[in-house]
Amino acid sequence: GYHRVLEENRKLYNQVQDLKGNIRVYCRVRPSLGGRSDFKSVVDSIEEGTITINTPAKYGKGCRSFNFNKVFGPTATQAEVFADTRPLIRSVLDGFNVCIFAYGQTGSGKTHTMTGPKDLTETSQGVNYRALSDLFFIAEQRKDTLHYDVSVQMIEIYNEQVRDLLVTEGLNKRYPFQLIIFLNNGFNVPDASLVHVESMYDVIDLMKLGHKNRAVGATALNDRSSRSHSCLTVHVQGRDVTSGAVLRGCMHLVDLAGSERVDKSEVAGDRLKEAQHINKSLSALGDVISSLAQKNSHVPYRNSKLTQLLQDSLGGQAKTLMFVHISPELNAVGETLSTLKFAERVATVELGAAQVHKDTSDVKDLKEQIANLKAALAKKE
Ligand code: ADP
Ligand code: MG
Repeated sequence: GYHRVLEENRKLYNQVQDLKGNIRVYCRVRPSLGGRSDFKSVVDSIEEGTITINTPAKYGKGCRSFNFNKVFGPTATQAEVFADTRPLIRSVLDGFNVCIFAYGQTGSGKTHTMTGPKDLTETSQGVNYRALSDLFFIAEQRKDTLHYDVSVQMIEIYNEQVRDLLVTEGLNKRYPFQLIIFLNNGFNVPDASLVHVESMYDVIDLMKLGHKNRAVGATALNDRSSRSHSCLTVHVQGRDVTSGAVLRGCMHLVDLAGSERVDKSEVAGDRLKEAQHINKSLSALGDVISSLAQKNSHVPYRNSKLTQLLQDSLGGQAKTLMFVHISPELNAVGETLSTLKFAERVATVELGAAQVHKDTSDVKDLKEQIANLKAALAKKE
């Protein structure tokens, strides 16, 4: 019974995924934080999956459009942003590996999307909370046929070293942690606390602990959170009540380090080392994704801790979603453009062809042409 349903679900997902590709890219624009009514955003327009940026003279004056699976404007709510993530949560329970990233420069809204604001309320909860809440909800719905076991890990990758965020004492006793590579069952897990969770209450407690531990590290170096990747990993095991058959799914929810380029002439020492590590891991991520896009036989997962950790959740049967964040301010436009270019390169994986930058007038022209052709066709029929 249930196996067949699962099998059909799987088939359905595969069909949908074949159409859509395994990597989706959603862009989210942060609202202006100053609250000024005369604020002028660099975003010229948002139309379905297309975002158009007004570029100042320095970057070649004009408009530049980028295409994604979806673009969320500054007024999009946390619930709206999560709505399009939902199918992925279901697929974790169906035994798929899933990876959800937040990419963007520091201050662009990554933590807001993944976790939420500091004064967290139920409506402002980010993807991490909503994902787990959905997971428990669906598991409950299926409880007569499948028994699910959920456990979580929370780690931080800082300067290519893995730190466990779910330890209650002796935080650095075993630091740095290693990645244990289980080649047989296809999971790369860090040698970090794996905590069984039964409900959202457990999850909320653990997230608090994780955030507290992260802050502890931050006292030594200011705002370390923007210079490390943090990852909430959810391991799901489902056992068929009648047959005893087991399926496993895994989901990584990653708040990446700030993608801004640090001017090497201005930094030295620790700061330079951090910048180099961040550049290395983010470009390793980009390289992995583009070699997946080109269907290369060798994918360079080994080039960073981040890509090693995510190895089984990128490519193949896994499903990946990248939230790309941008700030609306003019003084950030340089980073905004490079963020969008990086993201477009990622989006190419699913589109299967290189994207050309189009100017809005071209897009409008094309849309008009399509409309005209459709009308002509309709007349013929
Ligand atoms: P990052 O994690 O990328 O450095 P944050 O998520 O910390 O950025 O966002 C920077 C600031 O902007 C925070 O004060 C955050 O609450 C606020 N912010 C970000 N995105 C939104 C949003 N969509 N709506 C309202 N406030 C936001
Ligand atoms: Mg952050």
